[in-house]
Amino acid sequence: MTDLEHVVVAGAGLAGLRTIEELRGRGYAGRVTLVGAEARLPYDRPPLSKKLLTGEVDDTTLRPDLDALDVQARLGERATGLAGGVLETDGGRYGFDALVLATGADPVTLPGAGPQHVLRTLDDALALRPLLRPGVTLAIVGAGWIGAELATAAAALGCQVTVVEAGGIPLAAAVGPEVGAQTVAWYAAAGVDLWLGQGVTAVEPGGLALTGGGWLPADVVVTAVGVRPAVSWLAGSGVATGDGILVDEQLRTTVPGVFAAGDCAAFQSARYGARLRFEHWDVALHAPEVAAANVLGGSEAYDPVPYFWSEQFGRMVQYVGYHAGGGELVWRGDPQGAELPPGGTGGAPGRAGHRWAAAWLDGDRLVALLSVNTPRDMLQGRRVIGSGAPVDPARLADPQIPVRDCVRT
Ligand code: FAD
Repeated sequence: MTDLEHVVVAGAGLAGLRTIEELRGRGYAGRVTLVGAEARLPYDRPPLSKKLLTGEVDDTTLRPDLDALDVQARLGERATGLAGGVLETDGGRYGFDALVLATGADPVTLPGAGPQHVLRTLDDALALRPLLRPGVTLAIVGAGWIGAELATAAAALGCQVTVVEAGGIPLAAAVGPEVGAQTVAWYAAAGVDLWLGQGVTAVEPGGLALTGGGWLPADVVVTAVGVRPAVSWLAGSGVATGDGILVDEQLRTTVPGVFAAGDCAAFQSARYGARLRFEHWDVALHAPEVAAANVLGGSEAYDPVPYFWSEQFGRMVQYVGYHAGGGELVWRGDPQGAELPPGGTGGAPGRAGHRWAAAWLDGDRLVALLSVNTPRDMLQGRRVIGSGAPVDPARLADPQIPVRDCVRT
């Protein structure tokens, strides 16, 4: 272990907390300072668009006993700059031997003078929750993961929900048009209006001004059109940024001793031969293992098979791997048709319990898998993708054959 005396972590979300847990878990006994813009202990975000909105949980604090990690927690304090080995905040200046940047991402908002909610922080969710009452007209801009999850919760709470999406197919950029198209029917089945190919020019008092001159009245507007990595404060620091903080495969930034992890970090992946940035819980959980190891003098690489999940309209949707638009698509089961036979509870075609999966192949390698209500496919697919083993596409197309048994021997 190197002779570090003080590690500073900027950003008190999952990645920031996990970095500190990993540092301590690996035996680092020196000082740790955690600077976090929100005046809250680190908390979990995935429930904010799910169980927190429906009132099933109120608090998603990750770790109430921060003291046990022996951290100087500077919560409610925002990092504003970095110069000469010192992190500047709106409350102080912190010299460091190593600095880990974990500032996450900020939601994009739309122009206009009308009130618009976003859904990124616990305070955002707590502000929105009491507004989701029966009969309330809710307009959600964006049919991405967060928009779909919010629509699910709001419809269940009795709101009249309209989702306005500029693209022609939901989730097309994330999972491709063929698979994204399968989700359209889910909205209607939940009683949610989905307007595709409809842009929004502004949020105005009382509703949305639409491209083409239309108007959508709404009691409540939520903008869910994506996020931008929270990196603008690093301008002039020497830390190179683009779509996120540019880090190498060891999560090192362009400034020695400064690392980055989580939603804010765009890392170099040897596995995919590309620079990648993910907004996935799993990345914020595991990248800090590598960041902490390397802060402590290691030379580990972070090169995951990315994974995320979404819970929408009563379905568990999971995606593992990475495909940049190409590859052969193989269906496991018919998304709109017959039920997958093996195990599980299943449901009628098109219903929430219906089970199917879609797999992407590059030659005979499985590169990505999306599963709906089929966690076993996901588990096995994750291992097969990670191993890089060749698979038999014909067997993969048979949903009765477990994914692991599709590997060519
Ligand atoms: P964040 O969680 O954003 O934490 C960064 C922290 O840094 C924030 O508290 C921020 O206030 C703080 N900060 C920002 N700028 C500064 C600054 N200058 N100085 C100090 N502090 C700063 N992923 C999934 O895989 N599945 C899901 O179902 C899922 N659901 C989600 C639902 C919601 C509503 C949201 C918002 C996200 C969801 N995600 C999901 C994504 C997942 O939660 C994120 O990938 C994860 O939270 C990223 O963690 P992070 O620590 O990198 O960033």
